[in-house]
Amino acid sequence: MISSPIDEIKNRLDIVEVIGSYIKFKKAGANYRALCPFHSEKTPSFFVSPARQIWHCFGCGRGGDIFGFVKEIEGVEFGDALRILAQKAGVELKRQRPELKTERQRLYEICEWATRFFEKQLAGSSSGKEAKKYLLSRGITEESIEKWRLGYSPDVWQSLSDFLTSKGYKKEEIEKAGLSIKSEKGSFYDRFRGRIVFPIFDLNSQVVGFSGRIFKSPDTAKYVNTPNTLLYDKSRILYGLDKAKVAIRKKDACILVEGNTDVIMSHQTGSENAVATSGTALTPFQLKILKRYSNNLLIGFDMDVAGETATKRGIDLAQTQGFDIKVIRLPEGKDPAEIISKNPKEWEKTLTSTVSILDFYFETAFANRDPKTPEGKKEISKILLPVIKRIPNEIEKSYWVQKLAKNLEVKEEDVEAELKKVKLEEDIYGLEPEETINLPQKSRKELLEERLLILILKSPQNINLIDEGKVSCFSPPYQEVLSKLIKKQSPEPEPFNYLSLKAEIEEIEEKDILPDIQFCLKEIQCLEIKKRLDQISQEIKKAEEDKNSQKIEELTREFTKLAKEISL
Ligand SMILES: [Zn+2]
Repeated sequence: MISSPIDEIKNRLDIVEVIGSYIKFKKAGANYRALCPFHSEKTPSFFVSPARQIWHCFGCGRGGDIFGFVKEIEGVEFGDALRILAQKAGVELKRQRPELKTERQRLYEICEWATRFFEKQLAGSSSGKEAKKYLLSRGITEESIEKWRLGYSPDVWQSLSDFLTSKGYKKEEIEKAGLSIKSEKGSFYDRFRGRIVFPIFDLNSQVVGFSGRIFKSPDTAKYVNTPNTLLYDKSRILYGLDKAKVAIRKKDACILVEGNTDVIMSHQTGSENAVATSGTALTPFQLKILKRYSNNLLIGFDMDVAGETATKRGIDLAQTQGFDIKVIRLPEGKDPAEIISKNPKEWEKTLTSTVSILDFYFETAFANRDPKTPEGKKEISKILLPVIKRIPNEIEKSYWVQKLAKNLEVKEEDVEAELKKVKLEEDIYGLEPEETINLPQKSRKELLEERLLILILKSPQNINLIDEGKVSCFSPPYQEVLSKLIKKQSPEPEPFNYLSLKAEIEEIEEKDILPDIQFCLKEIQCLEIKKRLDQISQEIKKAEEDKNSQKIEELTREFTKLAKEISL
């Protein structure tokens, strides 16, 4: 039998590995448990079941198989999820007719071709070779050039565009991929010209954008980047995360640096848990992604504690979101790339000399200000109070309040009073509170039925308690599960998988199961009777209108009989 590519992919990939490449989770019995990547929560209600190859979040109700997960987390259509997973699984998909390809897919292809074009230029053309020499002189190795797929864009107006059109892509598509610019006259020219090009990868190592930097005369902008496109949104991407995510999880820490070369050089020395923000401050979205991998951030760039810079705002946000932040002590005015190019060993050493963000702020705030003078006290507290206010833990907060009071030689109550006055920017915007989610409301009957099924799945011999004749009273999806279980057949995967997973997770004492089942059965029966009673009342009303006394009598008899059953 020939299996479909979907089955083939499912056979080859393990859900734990696929989901594990996006989020970190902990083993919980036979399953894995994590904070849900799709809604914000403080206690993990996201489960992955290796036995069933499914995932389910009991907080927001999302769930499914690997395809559903990739669709959801990448924000893509099914076709794209299929391609992503096919690539992971090494399953070849049949060639699609070009007109059936999604726009997204064509843009991915354009970016891939462009990357190959730039790589070839770096290796072959004369100015490309010059660019390569420059990279090597900066300490970037041949292996890194290959691994990060660095390239060179020739200093002419249309070399890449011509190459891509020869591959069958339209000029408009090339522009949409961010690779060319439309002039006022309506012609297109290459965005990247005469630059070293760093491809930017998404979490699946597919190229989605580029960053080009000059290496010779600094008479033009130092950097040129892909604008936001269908594939690339700079507020959502962290440079190097696709190559760093495993190391971040393993080391349970993420090194944040500023530039692409800092990332590349850090990986080169073996510290592969480094990423860079793509020339912007950290955004809530990026932090959310990082949280999947680790809660520990190591800051590897200069930070102006008194300034209102974008970089500082990103770190503030990370602090509010409960990240444990440490600052790497960089030697005066040096960036990681410089340190590494001089001596790779030095970087490893630097990484071990970190200081907590609070200690860092304290040191820096007190360093150039005089805590003896009223102005100095005011300036120092202006820097430190917001940082203290952001600490989520009250005990920790109180420690820093005491320390600040002591170092400023003022009363603790005064520090407390000032602390109350501080307004945090993220509070004003109300960033990222715990979400409240409206799950599709289940009726009481459905909830009881679900509970009953879970209990039966926990101790299957109790299926004998269900009267086969009563199965038709159950809500449709549960009806199917029950009748199959009674017939000792396997039910359809949905909602059976979900129920089984829930049964596995639910902690119920053995001795409570039977009474609980009996309770559910009784309640379900009561609800059924009440429903019938409502119907009878309606019918009596109608019989009264028709003056059908015989019918009235019959119905009343049934009503009394049923009403008695509930009161039992
Ligand atoms: Zn959720």
